[in-house]
Amino acid sequence: MKTVNDINFKGKKVLIRVDFNVPLDEEFNVTDDTRIRAAKPTILKILEDGGSCILMSHLGRPKNKEAEFSLKHIVKSLSDIVGVQVKFVEDSIGAEVEAAVSNLKSGEILLLENLRYYEEETKGDRDFAEKLSKLGDVYVNDAFGTAHRAHASTAIIAEFFPENKCFGLLLASEIENVEKVLKSTEKPVTAIIGGAKVSSKITIIENILDKIDHLIIGGGMAFTFIKAQGGKVGSSLVEDDKQSLALEILEEAKKKNVKVHLPVDAIIADSFSDTANTQIVTVGNIPDGWMGLDVGPETNKLFEEVILNSKIILWNGPVGVFEMDKFAQGTKVLGQNIAKATKNGAFSLVGGGDSVAAVHKFNLADKVSYVSTGGGAMLEMLEGKTLPGIKALL
Ligand code: AMP
Repeated sequence: MKTVNDINFKGKKVLIRVDFNVPLDEEFNVTDDTRIRAAKPTILKILEDGGSCILMSHLGRPKNKEAEFSLKHIVKSLSDIVGVQVKFVEDSIGAEVEAAVSNLKSGEILLLENLRYYEEETKGDRDFAEKLSKLGDVYVNDAFGTAHRAHASTAIIAEFFPENKCFGLLLASEIENVEKVLKSTEKPVTAIIGGAKVSSKITIIENILDKIDHLIIGGGMAFTFIKAQGGKVGSSLVEDDKQSLALEILEEAKKKNVKVHLPVDAIIADSFSDTANTQIVTVGNIPDGWMGLDVGPETNKLFEEVILNSKIILWNGPVGVFEMDKFAQGTKVLGQNIAKATKNGAFSLVGGGDSVAAVHKFNLADKVSYVSTGGGAMLEMLEGKTLPGIKALL
């Protein structure tokens, strides 16, 4: 994997695809700058070599060049983070952009306007990619969050840089951290898969069964497994058409010597609400009209034991409705146990959507080994897919 560390960028104009698709408030202030900070090491390496950076990104899903999706809103945050006043140009291709690029001096940064102002971007249009490619001597992809898309700037453009292309440091580290889990020689490896539905996690489970020793299943998806095994789940979230698939997974896990750990008790509620009445029951005994919204104390203990004995831990998806305080405990304790295992020397990767939100909510982000910046991209890597943005660089 060739990264920016393998190239000297002195005098080079470097075209970098970053993922600055960040949330903005009503006054267009950046409310979470994680993705901007994540791109900083790559940008600084290039500037320190004596190169200049041309940054390109998308922001949101504009339909008609709406001003609210302009990347000009992030110039201040970006400038503060990298410590250089960033220049901005109100387009991503054309004469004005070419002039701004040709005036760019070493040590300077130019940010282009939202790539998705052109529908050619998401269509993966070759001509658009070629026009973008003319702006730089070298192409760097550091946009992990969009690496699973074959868009013009994330994948198609790479063919115009047969020699002069490489991985940014963020993209490289995301790949390395997933590989630490999927290609680990250390044991035991534990995957914790939670979240709402079996259907959205099935490909991940199938792909990782060969690589893990323990599989912890929590969240709404656990109830499909429990019902399939004959348990009473009341009105808990269940995908009835996935029950036989759940049994097949359990069978497959057995064949592969993977120990599956399902919840043994649950916090149940009489409505999907933070003000619901609650009680704790064993997991296959949920009365009609009640639903399981979090794992119970016995389950917390069971999961703790598995986690504290693991050397490699992957966590994707909450084990309860952690957004509501009444049902957050299981996910919080689980996260704390992963932090404890990490402190004791385990490697822990938190990736994909809501578990990342949970880790931030419970202030555990710096207590696990790695928190992924990409939701969909991370999930597709765990599913065993080669992402188009990565393939294009190889
Ligand atoms: P996912 O995006 O599939 O990882 O699902 C995350 C969502 O699953 C979160 O919004 C949780 O609130 C939800 N979730 C977790 N446990 C349950 C449960 N027992 N019943 C319903 N939803 C749940």
